Amino acid sequence: MNFEIQLRLWYSENKRSLPWRKTKNPYNIWLSEVIMQQTRIAQGTKYYHHFISTYPTVKDLANAPLDAVLKSWEGLGYYSRARNLHLAANQIVTLFHGNFPKDYSTLLSIKGIGPYTAAAISSICFKEEIAVVDGNVYRVLSRIYGIETPINSSAGIKQFNQLAQKLIKGCPLPGDYNQAIMEYGALHCTPKNPKCNTCIFSSTCVAYNTNTVEKLPVKTKAKPVKDRFLSYLILFKDNKIAVEKRTHKDIWQGLFQFPLIETENGNATVLKGTKMAEPVKHLLSHQRLHITFWQIKHPEQLPKTTYHWVDVDMLQTLAFPIVLKRFIDANLLHL
Ligand code: SF4
Repeated sequence: MNFEIQLRLWYSENKRSLPWRKTKNPYNIWLSEVIMQQTRIAQGTKYYHHFISTYPTVKDLANAPLDAVLKSWEGLGYYSRARNLHLAANQIVTLFHGNFPKDYSTLLSIKGIGPYTAAAISSICFKEEIAVVDGNVYRVLSRIYGIETPINSSAGIKQFNQLAQKLIKGCPLPGDYNQAIMEYGALHCTPKNPKCNTCIFSSTCVAYNTNTVEKLPVKTKAKPVKDRFLSYLILFKDNKIAVEKRTHKDIWQGLFQFPLIETENGNATVLKGTKMAEPVKHLLSHQRLHITFWQIKHPEQLPKTTYHWVDVDMLQTLAFPIVLKRFIDANLLHL
């Protein structure tokens, strides 16, 4: 029995029951794929239900204010994905009359829809033979075929894509096959302690038979993490608090924050204020943020940025990065 049929059989018996697997509606599949790239199944399922009930169609998402979409996304991180989600919904409404394009290449032309998402939508919803290649697929293929090319090198990306594409060719249910190989990586051929003893591929798996399972897939070293030192200034005036929107191209673009002073080494010596809470460390993919919150007394201590005053109660309705939201919940909302 060939690889693709074996996988699909395994999938039909072992797949998890997930809400987006009950539909072929491209809007639902798209939302689930974008959300699940950010988080684990349990948390992602909650966000998926929230998005589907708040924005039942792509038109509803396009018509919603960006701030509301960012608020819905709050806690998932990588806010550029939420901005792209909103932009893409608008493109689908204006350029395609609210209907998702049915083919991979047209899907790729939409803002924020990359090769992975376009492959998932076109194969699952429209049976196009385009292979998805995510972390699970890299792992399963590198082990079964014993491929040592680094998966984050351009040669590796090309090699794995070509192999994946060869495997899906002629498959009658390419969407099921794509989901099957990802599910196999998520449940069976896992990063740590894969279940090789009960694996349907153990007799042919190169990694298993050459004792190299732990070594594959190969990845070249990630770039170093950068430290950033952020001092947020908390200033009240008549029961209102100063906030600003991050508009520049950087982390958290489009989200709200308190007026900010960023320094090279964390010495915000210009400040005359009191620290409001213990400094917080917050990790992003390539940045380590060291965050301090200062309560200050006078507006002239604020940096020369565009800030405005909002009621403290209003903070709950604005989209803040999760680390600031936690500070607000713990320190400001009971004031
Ligand atoms: S034998 Fe082990 S390493 Fe090979 S595919 Fe199966 S689970 Fe993965």
